[in-house]
Amino acid sequence: MAKILDGKAVAERLRGQLATRIAALDFRPGLVVLRVGEDPASGVYVRNKDKAATAAGFASRTRHLPESTTEAELLAEIAALNADPAVDGILVQLPLPAHIRAEAAIAAVDPAKDVDGFHPINAGRLASGLPGLVPCTPRGAMHLLAEAGASLRGARAVVVGRSQIVGRPMAQLLLAADCTVTIAHSRTRDLPEECRRADILIAAVGRPEMIRGDWVREGAIVIDVGINRLPDGRLVGDVAYAEALPRAAAITPVPGGVGPMTIACLLENTLEAALARRGRRVGV
Ligand code: NDP
Repeated sequence: MAKILDGKAVAERLRGQLATRIAALDFRPGLVVLRVGEDPASGVYVRNKDKAATAAGFASRTRHLPESTTEAELLAEIAALNADPAVDGILVQLPLPAHIRAEAAIAAVDPAKDVDGFHPINAGRLASGLPGLVPCTPRGAMHLLAEAGASLRGARAVVVGRSQIVGRPMAQLLLAADCTVTIAHSRTRDLPEECRRADILIAAVGRPEMIRGDWVREGAIVIDVGINRLPDGRLVGDVAYAEALPRAAAITPVPGGVGPMTIACLLENTLEAALARRGRRVGV
């Protein structure tokens, strides 16, 4: 039976460690979350980020702009935050209203303050094996692999999904950790067989329970990034959890696996950005 990777507990521990490190600093790292419009799910996310950041000792605030904000106005807002020395991290909450191009907003953030790790400069640094700010969800998944005691060097890792925010950066992090990495996607031929080869299987698809138990190799470590709401209101991952549980060596539940790690890693990125901007050593 698999070890269940308790993301809630790991995230809590990480937030505690960050709070201790921040308490020892002579300044408070600053985080600003920019929200535009009224996407209801964003409201919850933004509040949770703000709450967690404040509790860990960050100077955190949310800047909520009206739905009618133009792209030019948002870019001006981002430019002002880029220039503000008290701001170490800027997060543009997605989705943005349809009349604003997300890629324009992401590219406007100073890469040194891009705590979401979505800026093309940071994506390029990651793909080049250079240090930079790394997207929070894949970073959280790497923490959970460490928690599982996974030995990554030489392991076969299969990442299902190739999005900019999860699949691709996830694959880059695993490659940097010396895994042999396969990236699968909607055009992959024989996905079950690709998955069965995985010592480490990462699901980042967005399709409820698509990955069946018999796609999971005996003894594999399974990280389920997917968060899918069923018509009956239940949340499930991309992996058929009950089927995978007896086969995997370790597995993340949904909810309570990767999800809670994302905010903790946002805070970790913000602290790192704050230290790097001041020329201080970044120790994780
Ligand atoms: P995207 O929709 O951007 O990407 C999904 C990926 O899955 C695409 O690369 C797509 O392939 C691939 N895919 C879709 N259908 C199939 C299929 N039938 N077989 C194989 N591959 C397929 O999603 P995200 O990366 O943004 O998110 C993935 C999941 O992770 C979602 O459930 C999301 O809610 C969750 N998530 C969770 C977070 C957390 O905090 N835990 C944070 C972010 C996301 P193709 O490129 O060919 O279209």
